[in-house]
Amino acid sequence: MDFRLTDEQNQIRQMVREFAESEIKPHLAEWDEKQHFPVEVFKRAGELGLLGVTIPEEYGGAGLSYVDYANVIEEFGVVDSGFGLSVAAHNSLCTGHTYLAGSDEQKKKWLPKLTSGEWVGAWGLTEPGSGSDASGMRTTAVKDGSDWILNGTKNFITNATYADLSVVLAVTDKADQKHGITAFAVEMDRKGIHAGKKENKLGMRVSDTAELVMQDCRVPASSVLGEIGYGFIDAMKTLDGGRISIGALAVGIARGAYEAARDYSKQRTAFGKPISDFQAIQFMLADMATEIDAARLLCYRAAAIKDEGEKVTQFSAMAKLYASEVAVRATEKGVQIFGGYGFVKDFPAEKYYRDVKLCTIGEGTSEIQRMVIARSILAEAR
Ligand SMILES: Cc1cc2nc3c(=O)[nH]c(=O)nc-3n(C[C@H](O)[C@H](O)[C@H](O)COP(=O)(O)OP(=O)(O)OC[C@H]3O[C@@H](n4cnc5c(N)ncnc54)[C@H](O)[C@@H]3O)c2cc1C
Repeated sequence: MDFRLTDEQNQIRQMVREFAESEIKPHLAEWDEKQHFPVEVFKRAGELGLLGVTIPEEYGGAGLSYVDYANVIEEFGVVDSGFGLSVAAHNSLCTGHTYLAGSDEQKKKWLPKLTSGEWVGAWGLTEPGSGSDASGMRTTAVKDGSDWILNGTKNFITNATYADLSVVLAVTDKADQKHGITAFAVEMDRKGIHAGKKENKLGMRVSDTAELVMQDCRVPASSVLGEIGYGFIDAMKTLDGGRISIGALAVGIARGAYEAARDYSKQRTAFGKPISDFQAIQFMLADMATEIDAARLLCYRAAAIKDEGEKVTQFSAMAKLYASEVAVRATEKGVQIFGGYGFVKDFPAEKYYRDVKLCTIGEGTSEIQRMVIARSILAEAR
C-alpha cells in the first residue's frame, strides 16, 4: 500500500491548479455573482484532457485512472467547485454513462466530441417530482415505428443550458417496476427538447443548473443507450462513479476552506498575538486537517476499487457521505476562524460555506448514501 502520489499524478494536479488559477480565479467573484458559466473556458479544459479523464484514448479520452480523476476534481474544488461540478457532471455522468452503456458505434460518434470539449454533456435523471426516488420518474418514451417519442421534464440538470448531448432516462414500460426505464442519448439540436428554467442557487453558482424539457421529442432507435429497460440499472452504476467525484469535490472545497483559514489565522492578531496561537483555533485547524485527510483516503479507496473493476457501490457511497459531511463541518469552521471577515464576500470563507452544501445533496443525499451503505453492510452480515 503506497500512500504517495506518483510524479505524474502530482503533475496532473499541478496542471489543473494552474488552469483553474489562471482561467477561473481572476473572474470568480463576478461569475459567482452573475451566475455565469464560462463555456469557452470549459471547452478549453477539453484541450487539456480534463473532459474525458478516464475515457480510453481510442475514444479521444485521456485514458487515466479514477484515482487521477479524483485528483482532478479535488483541485477544481479548491479553486471553484461550481466549475468542478460541471466538469464532474460532464465526465462521470454524461460521458461516463455513454461509455458504460453505448455501442462501439455510439461511442465513436459521441465520445470524441465530448472528451475534446467540442460538445458539452448533461445527464438527466431527476425530475420535479422524483429525486431520491428516481425510479418514480414520469418522463416517458413511447415507440413510434422505429423511433421513440420523449415527453417529460427533468430538473436540476447540470450543464443543461449549454448541452449539446443529454443522456436522459425515461419510462419505456410502465408495467415493469424493475426494468421499465431506458436511457436515451439525445442531441440537443433535435426538435422538441430544450433547456428550461435556470435555477438561482445558494452556491455552485458558476455551474449551470436548469430544467430539460421534452415535448414530443422524436429520436431514432440509434439514440437508445444500452439495453431497453436497463437504463435505471446503468444510471445507478453511473452514479457509483459519479459519487466518488462529488466526494473528491467536497475534499477540494474543504481543503480550500482549511488552507485559507490556516493562513489567515497566522496573520490575524487579537490580544497581541496571532489567533493561531490560541488553542481553540489550533484545535479547529487540527480537526479540519485530520478529517480532510480521512475523507480523501476514502475517496482514493473507492477510486482504486473502481479502477480494479470491482463493485464499488458501498465504497463510493461511504466516500461521498463522509467527505461531504466533513466538508460542511470544515467550511463552517473556516467561517468561524475568519470571524466577521468570514461573513463577507471580500474573503474566501463564505463562498466555500455556500458551495459545499450541494455535496450532501447532489448525486444522492446523505440519507440516501446511508441507505445504500446500510443495505450493503447488512446484506454482507447475512
Ligand atoms: C446544483 C444541483 C445540480 C444537480 N445536477 C443534477 C444532474 O446533473 N442530473 C440529475 O439528474 N440531477 C441533478 N441534481 C439533482 C439531485 O441529484 C437531487 O436534488 C437529489 O438527488 C435529491 O433529490 P430531491 O431534490 O428531489 O430531494 P428529495 O428526494 O425530495 O429529498 C428531500 C429530503 O428527503 C430525504 N429523503 C428522501 N427519501 C428518503 C428516504 N427514503 N429516507 C430518508 N430520507 C429521505 C432526502 O434525503 C432529503 O433530505 C442536481 C441538484 C442540484 C441542487
